[in-house]
Amino acid sequence: MKEIEIFSPATIANVSCGFDVLGCCLDSIGDKMVLRKTDEPGVRIGKIIGEKLPMEAEKNVASVAVIEMLKDLKEAPGFGIEIDIYKNIKPGSGVGSSAASAAGAVFAANELLGNPFSSHQLIPYAAEGERAACGAPIADNVAPALLGGFTLVKSDDPIKVIELPSIEGLYATIIHPQIEIKTSVSRDILPQTVKLKSAIKQWANVGALIHALHTNDAHLFADSLNDYIVEPHRSKLIPEFDNVIKNAVEAGALGGGISGSGPSIFTFSKDEQTAHKVSIVVDKVYNKTKIPYHIYTSKINVEGVKIVKRQ
Ligand code: ADP
Repeated sequence: MKEIEIFSPATIANVSCGFDVLGCCLDSIGDKMVLRKTDEPGVRIGKIIGEKLPMEAEKNVASVAVIEMLKDLKEAPGFGIEIDIYKNIKPGSGVGSSAASAAGAVFAANELLGNPFSSHQLIPYAAEGERAACGAPIADNVAPALLGGFTLVKSDDPIKVIELPSIEGLYATIIHPQIEIKTSVSRDILPQTVKLKSAIKQWANVGALIHALHTNDAHLFADSLNDYIVEPHRSKLIPEFDNVIKNAVEAGALGGGISGSGPSIFTFSKDEQTAHKVSIVVDKVYNKTKIPYHIYTSKINVEGVKIVKRQ
């Protein structure tokens, strides 16, 4: 194989009560990436279409992740790797733009190398790519992008990820208001201590949510999608957040929350038809504001990164 084209999906991190640990993979939002073998050794970015992002290999999360992966090969490959990125996921939107690049790059490079690593082994390399974007090797977006479905980051040092099933037929509706929330502001707004009462409610919900996924129980899933710790603070940064969730639930959504650190808001629905109904009411809420926005609906992608073409 000389070249591979892949679809690298957007992801929702911080799924409600699962702040920093629970994520899931989307299907209809994602980037195209093409990776090819080159005669010249090393890793470089060939082109980036759609967004202005670093072309330097040591700054782009895609090349950083592949460079980290190559360091662990027993022998250096007899070829170089060029990465083309066709960006559809806006950086800073909260649906894992940098994670899609990092996860997609290690997945595709692994294919070009003849798959020396398993999907789980690729996660720490992709997380090293994330370090280039946010300063820490976080896995809560790259894990669902690589594994599909829902994932739980059980520990981050060393990185240990548990794969979880999805609720059958589950759909997400996502609204991305085009506002900028500075990472420093979304971090500073969080309290440093948590009330024991809130913590108890939170871990009860995380446990129940995991049980709901394993037993395909949409009712329990809906009942567990509550975040008592982070959302009450961060939602203040997102205009109309409460209205979006209230109207979505009235239209049949199972619940929702802040995607990543925002500004995107996600909601889950039990099927495609409900997800579309939800997108209509969410559209009505944001239409009244002067803020530009995009709305997406997507089923949950249980595969993760997908191969489009090999040659
Ligand atoms: P998201 O949560 O949507 O990934 P972040 O704000 O965490 O958004 O990451 C975007 C940051 O990562 C930007 O500073 C961007 O320049 C940097 N970055 C580096 N390489 C990439 C890439 N290939 N794709 C997206 N962002 C990248």
